[in-house]
Amino acid sequence: MRRKYRIPVALFGQCLLVVLVAVAGSNEASCAATVDVGFARVDITPTTPIRLSGYAARSTESVGVQQKLWAKAMAIGRGRDTALLITVDCTGLSRDLTGRIKRSLWDKTGIPARSIAMAASHTHSAPMISGYLENLFGRSKHPITAEQQAHIDQYTKELEQKILKTALDAASSRRPSLLFWGRGRVGFAKNRRTQGGPVDHDLPVLKVTDPDGVMRAVVVGYACHGTTLDPADNVVSGDWMGYAQHDIEQRYPGSVAMVVIGAGADSNPFPRVGLTHAQKHGRRVADQVGRVLSRDDLRPIGGVTSARAGTVELDFARAGVEPLPYTIQTWVIGDELAMVFLEGEVVVDYSLRLKAHFRKRLGEDKLWVAAFCNSVPGYVASERILKEGGYEADSSTFYYGLPGRFAAGLEDKIIEEVLGQLRGFVKASATTRGESKD
Ligand SMILES: [Zn+2]
Repeated sequence: MRRKYRIPVALFGQCLLVVLVAVAGSNEASCAATVDVGFARVDITPTTPIRLSGYAARSTESVGVQQKLWAKAMAIGRGRDTALLITVDCTGLSRDLTGRIKRSLWDKTGIPARSIAMAASHTHSAPMISGYLENLFGRSKHPITAEQQAHIDQYTKELEQKILKTALDAASSRRPSLLFWGRGRVGFAKNRRTQGGPVDHDLPVLKVTDPDGVMRAVVVGYACHGTTLDPADNVVSGDWMGYAQHDIEQRYPGSVAMVVIGAGADSNPFPRVGLTHAQKHGRRVADQVGRVLSRDDLRPIGGVTSARAGTVELDFARAGVEPLPYTIQTWVIGDELAMVFLEGEVVVDYSLRLKAHFRKRLGEDKLWVAAFCNSVPGYVASERILKEGGYEADSSTFYYGLPGRFAAGLEDKIIEEVLGQLRGFVKASATTRGESKD
């Protein structure tokens, strides 16, 4: 074996059983212990016309449905180690909405907020949600009417109940499974501010199978906006993220595919705009997922061994206004993988800096950076982008109802909180790496 995978003594018998029933020749299954994992999904496609979020150019309620929208949940582990990942085909979620859902889940299951990550796909063709990006049509000649707002409020109310039920369904459907992770690359994300500017083309993939190797689910991450579709097409769609999920589920019948967006706030899909491009980008993600899943070097992983969350205050450049509370969440999966869940539309500099930091210390990539998670209060610019100015640093703040740009210093604040939460992971991971060399 190229590397060690430590199995607790209590799990050894279970692992032996897994080995006995594993598909012959499956290198992955041969040394992995099972983890209880459950999945559920719910259709969240609006059933009546509704104003769509994402593009300020649209002037009426939606005129049709091009593709269904989904909320999906994955529950990993048991007892105190349970973690819930929830993905939602929507432009963004508000802190109020996710806060209510997390509190309900705590009441009903005892799963704490730090162990629940809620990721918005950031499709620009999903319904407006109460409390999120409410100023999108603030300069429009076609602001939201009282009747349209009532439709949005009703949709949001139903969405909250559906997400809650799906999370509970996932928790109650847990059964022994095997987890693996690997990484591919896809190149359609392009820096939308600077020709040839920085991008993150990593495609982290989490694979979940039955103990006998039958595919149960795929979670895939990619750092790119959901802006392939034409704003003139006022129809409901999951954009490339929706097509990626659809294609993966088609290729692995009975499986659940979930997409988590990385720090792609300043990346657009290329080429765009139009339906065929969205379909092609989705297919490229599914193709690359297929290639990653067929490799024999996927890392077996266990459940979430540590979940943390911390809030930092992001100051605005304008004097006399309250800072924005900004929550950073991290999950550690043994010494194999750390997942970072950042709020907001996070620009690529954050993931590149974090990954470089960990790569330098660990000698390999063990970090999965997700953004648009838990809530999306606005763009989260880096110091570089604050200096450069432009949409992500300045003009986007109007749509988010923020009191202007952030003050310098936010990047270090966020990075330091992530590093602080993952200090133990770096230590454990470096130790294991050292042992493996012996
Ligand atoms: Zn955006």
